[in-house]
Amino acid sequence: MANTINDLAKYEFKRKLEDLRAISGKATELISLYIPPNKVISDVASYLRDEYAQSSNIKSQSTRKNVMAAISSILSRLKQYKYPPENGMVFFVGHKSITGDLTDMVAHTIEPPEPVQSYLYRCDSKFYLTPLEEMLTEKDCYGLITVDRSEAAIGFLRGKRIEVAAYIPSRVPSKHGRGGQSQRRFERIIEIAAHEFFKKVGDTSNSTFLQEKNMKGILVGGPGATKKFFVENNYLHHELTKKVIEFFDTGYTNEWGLRELVEKAAGTLTGLDLMREKKIMQRFMEEIVKSSGGLGAYGEAEIRYVLEIGAVDTLLLSEGLRMKRVTIKCQNCNYIDAKTLFEDATPGQCPKCSSSLQITGTIDLVGELSKLAEKSNSTLQLISNESDEGKMLLKAFGGAAAILRFSIGRT
Ligand code: ZN
Repeated sequence: MANTINDLAKYEFKRKLEDLRAISGKATELISLYIPPNKVISDVASYLRDEYAQSSNIKSQSTRKNVMAAISSILSRLKQYKYPPENGMVFFVGHKSITGDLTDMVAHTIEPPEPVQSYLYRCDSKFYLTPLEEMLTEKDCYGLITVDRSEAAIGFLRGKRIEVAAYIPSRVPSKHGRGGQSQRRFERIIEIAAHEFFKKVGDTSNSTFLQEKNMKGILVGGPGATKKFFVENNYLHHELTKKVIEFFDTGYTNEWGLRELVEKAAGTLTGLDLMREKKIMQRFMEEIVKSSGGLGAYGEAEIRYVLEIGAVDTLLLSEGLRMKRVTIKCQNCNYIDAKTLFEDATPGQCPKCSSSLQITGTIDLVGELSKLAEKSNSTLQLISNESDEGKMLLKAFGGAAAILRFSIGRT
């Protein structure tokens, strides 16, 4: 169930960034430090010692004190490392403002899901998160082809990045402006040359795309009718022809054409993601309107039950679910319980003796339910808040729903 783990790790990373984004300093005193995997730790340390020396020039006494404290804190954390971790690491350290003049020191070390690309030190009133946010954007892979009779380009779209894989100029002579030869003979030569050219574009596309296992589809661009002619006349492997999503008119067919193609396809691509969510929510809703609830279940308590008995095929969780699962204990009478609370809620009073309850353990609800799903080999589908169906999951079904493997026979 690698899928479950990836989705969950991604969700947890997303939540972490949300928390960091909410932090601000009273002045430029929050430090973000990005360390790529190949960076030498001692170089980072000497860079930081320089920054430390320079920060003694900061005019405001409190800012100076806070910046120096943050740098010292990173320096002492760095001592735990001989080398950066596999993907490098990022430090977010500084004093966040609370209320009035109050501040509180925060220090986070993040080992990101993808390699840190470049070394970066920044001191600002907010943490600098852009490189990490970019890691979160969808890394779906699509094949790109732009083609007309004069040239073709082949490439990939990975997340937001365009990779050019091949550029193929053609030797097809122009149809116009040739005197001398017999017109019919000339047209035949052109058609043979065009066929050879399309064959080469097809072969190159096949060898480029067929080895890419997770390609979600192919976008085809170019001016005029050639792009459709190319696909409809089977120059592509039949497995690839099936993956063609849509044709788009582009002015260019070179590297710029690939960029143009991606720009024009943006709406279609966002739509595909949402479509996947919509489809699965619709399947769930078709089930719950059946008598005795069909193969649908929803609401936290019922979801816990169906997960426990191994009845869940697909667990649907809303990314907008902001709840925590806590274990609570009464220090006075040792009463123990587990409860689900809103993120910022307190546990209240002991039902036995009315003392205040203490939280002894906290886990994010989405994280907890995902782990239960993983244990029973259920597929996890996190649903964004961007479609109507996604909003309905959160509002009408408590943010948690399931499509079951078997009916649990409610009456
Ligand atoms: Zn008690």
